[in-house]
This record gives sequence, structure tokens and C-alpha cells, in this order.
Amino acid sequence: MKTELNLLPLANWGLKHTEQRPLLIAGPCSAETEEQVLTAAHELAKQNVSVFRAGIWKPRTRPNSFEGVGSIGLKWLSNVKRETGLKVATEVANAKHTYEALKHNIDVLWIGARTSVNPFAVQEIADALQGVDIPVFVKNPINPDLELWIGALERLNKVGITKLGAIHRGFSSYGDTAFRNAPNWQIPIELKRRFPELLILNDPSHIGGKRSLLFEISQKAMDMDFDGLIIEVHPDPDKAWSDAKQQITPEQYAELIDSLIIRSKGDAQYVHSKLFDLRKKIDHFDQELVELLEARMKVALEIGEFKRENNMIVLQNNRWSEILEQSIALGQSKGLSPELVSKIFKAIHQESINKQTDIINRVFV
Ligand code: PEP
Ligand code: MN
Repeated sequence: MKTELNLLPLANWGLKHTEQRPLLIAGPCSAETEEQVLTAAHELAKQNVSVFRAGIWKPRTRPNSFEGVGSIGLKWLSNVKRETGLKVATEVANAKHTYEALKHNIDVLWIGARTSVNPFAVQEIADALQGVDIPVFVKNPINPDLELWIGALERLNKVGITKLGAIHRGFSSYGDTAFRNAPNWQIPIELKRRFPELLILNDPSHIGGKRSLLFEISQKAMDMDFDGLIIEVHPDPDKAWSDAKQQITPEQYAELIDSLIIRSKGDAQYVHSKLFDLRKKIDHFDQELVELLEARMKVALEIGEFKRENNMIVLQNNRWSEILEQSIALGQSKGLSPELVSKIFKAIHQESINKQTDIINRVFV
């Protein structure tokens, strides 16, 4: 389904930030005490931060974890505004949170990953925001479902939210992985392709889940032309009441931001002509790849006919193992990773299997 979003450019959002990249949102995972919130905010106000974040209502995986201080924290955020001049943001997960946040003049809202999976909850928040002019960010749903993410953005846009952005915070997977939430970069890239004007921030804290990964993820996001970062910063991270492993001190935050290399978008003329030549080469090889796939598929179809005539099953497991192993070995000798080769061949093989299954089950009418 093709849709468009009616979006207001960031320059008109009323944030301190204008043209430069990245837009920076920083602050603790959770508001814990008034002192913790104000200490973090005063430190961050000295830096290039556009919006101060703190979670008031915390969606936690298990009960008996700290579930946020609740509405009292909104007063602390009002104090942050008054004392530091920073704009403030918090997460809302239902209509009640939304009304409370609006009542306390919170400047920016975000919808968390556990809420954006639920169209009922998102619609309820959207309805509460009807006619309100406030920036809203939608985190990706915890499962890798781009349509669901887009659906949540559309629900907000339909009630008139045009200061709208997305936050890429990674996707859940089962078992131990290097990341707390797998980045699946191809999903935000596809979101960007579909909605080039949509602001997309990256949340390295929730993707990485640990401090040591924050820089690498943030730099990658910048190199992929994300518009900004939302990073969890706490005055005493080890003692944080939630997400302690991934939070950093204001000093570490400053160092991270200073170390980022913000590369150009390559608008200069000489960049264009050199890239043009290289891209022509890529186009040429892409065309050859498609033609080779077509030729290969024709042979797979012939094999399908043969299997049909001889009443053979489609999946010949030994043959498939042989193809996969020899392709991976050849790929490795040419510097291609086994992951890449195996992914491509599994996709090609699956398509052949589907087509051959159609052939052997074909009925003549
Ligand atoms: C958060 O930003 O603290 C948070 C709860 O994030 P997410 O919804 O991405 O888990
Ligand atoms: Mn958090």
C-alpha cells in the first residue's frame, strides 16, 4: 500500500536545533529522583543537546522491576525546563500518560517499542493528540515489522501530527546475540526509501545494550545518513534503576559525540562524477546478476519438468548441501563471507523449490 506522510521539516519544529546533523536527544533511561534528573539535565545543558529525555512510566519485561516514578516525574521535567532551558521528552504508552504529559507541558513525546506493536494503544494515543501541535517520535515495534512501524506513524499523522519522526531502537531476537536488540539496518533503510522526508533517529543505547557498543552503532547511523541520536545518559550509570549497563556519564557522552565523524552527503561536483562512473559499473553487474539468475532459473524449471515426468520429489537434500557447501567455499576463496553466500543461495534455492513444486503439482485442464 502506497501512502504519504504530511511532514513538517525539522527546522520548523521549534527546537534549538536547525540545520546541523545530528539532532541530539539525551538523558536518563528513567527519572529516578528529582536530584538525579536535574543533575543529568544541568550537565547535558552544557552540551550540544536539543532535547532532554527521561522515562516516567517504564514498560518492564518482568514485574517487580522499577516501573517508573509516574506523574511526579513530570514536575521534575518542568523544573528541568525552567532551570536549564532544555526542551524535555518522555515516553507515553496510553491516553492517560498522554493527557498527563500534555498537562505538564512536556515538549516532545515518544512511543516506545512495546507500544508501537499495538495498534489499539497507538490509536488511543493518537486520539488523545488530536489537534495538539507537538513533536512525536515512534520507536520501531519490538518485532521486525516495517508495516506496523509505518502504521503507527500514519495513525499519528492522520490526527494532524506533522512534527513526526521515527526512532530505530533495534528488534528483539531469542537467545544471546552481540546486540541487545538486533539492528536489522535494512528496515530503517527501507523506511527511509519509502519516506525520504521522514526524520529518523538512531537509539544506540537500546540496540547495543552495553556501553562498549555505543560509539560503533552511532557512527554507523551517521554514515547511513540518520538525522540524529537518542542516547541514555545518567549521572551515575552503574547505579541506574533501569538499563544500567547501557547508560553513560555526561562526560562519556560528550566524548562520544566529539568522536563522531559526520561525513558529507557528497554534494560536490567531483564526487558526483566519480560516483556516477562507479555506479555505472554497479548497474552493469546488477544487470548481469539478474540475467544469470534468469538463466539459472530456466535450468531449475527444466529440472522441475524432469522430476514431474519421473514422479520424483522436489527436495534432493544431498544435492542442496553440495550446492551450498561448494558455493560457500568458492565465496570464501574470493573474500565473500559465508553469511552472504549462504543467504543468497538459500533465497535462490527456495525460489527454485517453490517453482518446481508448482510444476510437479500442475494439473492440466
Ligand atoms: C526507553 O527509551 O527507555 C525505552 C523503554 O525504550 P524502548 O521502547 O526502545 O525499549
Ligand atoms: Mn532504557
